[in-house]
Amino acid sequence: MKRFLYIVLLALIVGGFIYVYPEIEWSSPEIDIKLKSENIGTRPFDIEVLDSGKGLKNITVVLVGDHGESILVNKNYPEGVKGDKITVKLDPKKLGVKGGAAELKVSAEDRSRLKIFSGNKTKINKQVNLDLVPPKLDVISTDQYINRGGSGLVVYKASPDTVDSGVSIGDYFFPGYKANFKDEDVHMAFFAYPHDVEPGENIILIAQDQAGNERTSGIFYRLRDINYRKSDINISENFVENVMVPIMEEDSSGSSHKEIFLKVNNEMRKKNDATIKKVGTNSKGEIMWDGAFHQLSNSKVEANFADERTYILNDEPIDKQFHLGYDLAVTKRYPIEAANGGVIVYADELGIYGNTVMIDHGMGLLTLYGHMSTIDVEVGDQVFKNDIIGRTGETGLAAGDHLHYGIYINGVAVRPVEWWDNKWIKDNVTLKINQASGEFNPQTTETETHNQSSE
Ligand SMILES: [Zn+2]
Repeated sequence: MKRFLYIVLLALIVGGFIYVYPEIEWSSPEIDIKLKSENIGTRPFDIEVLDSGKGLKNITVVLVGDHGESILVNKNYPEGVKGDKITVKLDPKKLGVKGGAAELKVSAEDRSRLKIFSGNKTKINKQVNLDLVPPKLDVISTDQYINRGGSGLVVYKASPDTVDSGVSIGDYFFPGYKANFKDEDVHMAFFAYPHDVEPGENIILIAQDQAGNERTSGIFYRLRDINYRKSDINISENFVENVMVPIMEEDSSGSSHKEIFLKVNNEMRKKNDATIKKVGTNSKGEIMWDGAFHQLSNSKVEANFADERTYILNDEPIDKQFHLGYDLAVTKRYPIEAANGGVIVYADELGIYGNTVMIDHGMGLLTLYGHMSTIDVEVGDQVFKNDIIGRTGETGLAAGDHLHYGIYINGVAVRPVEWWDNKWIKDNVTLKINQASGEFNPQTTETETHNQSSE
């Protein structure tokens, strides 16, 4: 009798095993919680789940903390789902707390029948620091008057929990820097109202803490729109052969004049501008310049900032580009003076700009000098206003000896004329900084005057 029972039992086990075998997998789901730090706040974070076998059945995400226990995610899957990415965003109102120590519990189950009634389960518990309070943000500077394509400065206080702050306009972002005042909360952000941003865009100051909580504050400003010049430029085949072919990186044989032109004026320009952007976004967090920026002595402006140029080859318009600086001409091989104090961050050949020097003036501000015949500085050199950095020339995409001069904020080209103007700097930069550092007496200084800088 006993023996018979054993046989029945064995048959049941074997039979059951044969029945469920195809449904069995031995591996459990994998969970990957993508957190930037242990601090979690209102910045959404992702959880990735993968199951290499029979697929996912369910995932739950629970947060346990001072507020109690809240289920953030409880999701069931139909058959055949092998993986998922869930984005979790905490709602401070629902949680009803400001922060504190908490535990994030994630569990995922697959469709395996290894355990007859439930699948393989993976559980991950993660200790986190819940922080749902965004940084404090106070704009100190007032009176934002901005030219389209021009520059601005905002001085503000951001609480010590701030890890990232700055100004956002459209798709552009300009980081803020600590001002190094007695009050350590004071920050400054130089920004551009880029020439290619339509009037009416919001200028928003943003501060973010480690948990990704964000505080924003709109900046009031008045925009002076500027009609930048549009012009047609006729290109000769001679110019393509004599100026463009020599600076091309690849073999031009077999390419048409138009193809060569676009390779240089379009593709190479994009690459070069990306280099400027990269160099320009890696700036020192201190102001290394003083007073107005210097315009190359005895020079006259031959081409303006943000001129929109349509290039015409054999009566066909083939390209359109903005000229993002000034062309300054004096005499051949004229000594080039540094526009202001700073550190050399680039001293090399740069495609259409030829031999190029870039000076970092700090807090995102950079000047660029192109088409140079000789470069007399090296990366890392410290320079002062009017130090000679090299000589003018016609290297790169240049039709004659001149200096291409650009000013950038965080890699975005801005109108140089403002920075050449002592009064503009006093009104738009110095006053704001002095005001914030406490050296400023509002009763005695006029803040409402604006310079109508000439083109
Ligand atoms: Zn130029």
